[in-house]
Amino acid sequence: MRAAVSAAEIVTRFAPSPTGMLHTGGARTALFNWLFARSCGGQFRLRIEDTDRARSTAEAAEAILDGLTWLGLDWDGETVFQHANRKRHREVAEQLIESGAAYKCFATAEELAAMKPTGDVRSTRSPWRDRAGDGHPDAPYCIRLKVPLSGFTVVEDAVFGHMQWQNELLDDFIIIRSDGDPTYNFVVVVDDHDMGVSHVIRGDDHLANTPKQCLVYAALGWVEPVFVHIPLILDEEGRKLSKRADDPGLEQYRQDGIPARAVRNYLARLGWSHGDDDFFTTGQAIEWFRLEGLRKSPARLDRRKLDSLAGQHIAAAEDAELLTELNQFRCERGSDGFEGDLRAQAMRALPVLKQRVKSLRELDEQSAFIDAPRPIAVLPDAAKFLGQDAKELLLLLLPELTEVDWREPVLDELMRSFCGRENVGFGKLARPVRVALTGRAASLGITDILMILGREEVLGRIREAVAPA
Ligand code: GLU
Repeated sequence: MRAAVSAAEIVTRFAPSPTGMLHTGGARTALFNWLFARSCGGQFRLRIEDTDRARSTAEAAEAILDGLTWLGLDWDGETVFQHANRKRHREVAEQLIESGAAYKCFATAEELAAMKPTGDVRSTRSPWRDRAGDGHPDAPYCIRLKVPLSGFTVVEDAVFGHMQWQNELLDDFIIIRSDGDPTYNFVVVVDDHDMGVSHVIRGDDHLANTPKQCLVYAALGWVEPVFVHIPLILDEEGRKLSKRADDPGLEQYRQDGIPARAVRNYLARLGWSHGDDDFFTTGQAIEWFRLEGLRKSPARLDRRKLDSLAGQHIAAAEDAELLTELNQFRCERGSDGFEGDLRAQAMRALPVLKQRVKSLRELDEQSAFIDAPRPIAVLPDAAKFLGQDAKELLLLLLPELTEVDWREPVLDELMRSFCGRENVGFGKLARPVRVALTGRAASLGITDILMILGREEVLGRIREAVAPA
């Protein structure tokens, strides 16, 4: 086991296999590695485990890098592509053969069948384990680790505690296949060692691999990292989350307009806690993150929780920062961002709108009236509020809006006194004004809309709404 390392020597890593999108579990693993490194002033490294050439794709690697970047998890140093270390993996395997800790296994299919554990023999030991010399020079062979026949392999996991495996139950597992490809349990050790990884934080589905990796560390005389296995994630129904089927994945959250910082907050709570704190900033998470806060029990997805956190993060955001996010969201969907004159209107809208929405998508929908094409298209259910009587009221209101001092309390007062003079209820005026300005029957308060759009735009929209068809 590793001697304690100083905070600044801490190196974590995220080591995804590029076989699909960045799923929720992967994003959470990356986040915990990132939080831990950032909380200690250490390093967070990224390694794409593309050794399985048949299943790895460049598109998946790209999608993972893109997902991490969107989530704001910056990594230190170059991205390591595992396949590029192939020569080094081979060298280390040769070194293990040299030292007698691994051996070439030329076993044929029949011999392999005979190797299956039976009776007293409780694990797979190849007949080549103790055979001196090589097989036929042209015969295919794999390389196996010589696992000790007795004793225990111990893992002291930071979350799951002390675990031990009886060596006699562990196979002489393959480290290099007969086609020359190295196996995961071997290369992960070589790469983690070479990258100086001090803490391996990953899903508990890898717990069963850990003794094999410890055996490789021991065979090489290398110091093990601290192992930190984090709990499973269940879906909303409490079933084990399957990467493909029920996992909404990071891309879905992004499409739904959940801000990245809300996703970070939500993912951090999947298996980690700091007292009863549910809503926190990333800065707080970095300050608070300790391995002791990790839990053993499975975490569960909760979409309502995510939406509620997203609403809180949006409401708490600085307007300028929120506008940047909204503009980015709009641009990703092929619309222009709010720039130039529209920027000022959007900045006036945000303090009001941000209290009402739970996603950038809703913010986008509710702010769309700002740059809606003129004349404003009226939704079918809103058209009834723009009948002849309503248009006549608007015609009367127009000159007053042209004259008035354009300030919120003054506009408020004008609308009320106008209703008094014309002897109509407030709604009788507010609804047609709202429909004329936004095309919708329901939206913000009327004075808010007037203030956001400004006099010129308001007058233009109302004139178009009352113009004969
Ligand atoms: N490449 C492995 C995976 O995606 C991760 C291995 C590890 O973290 O050790 O599951």
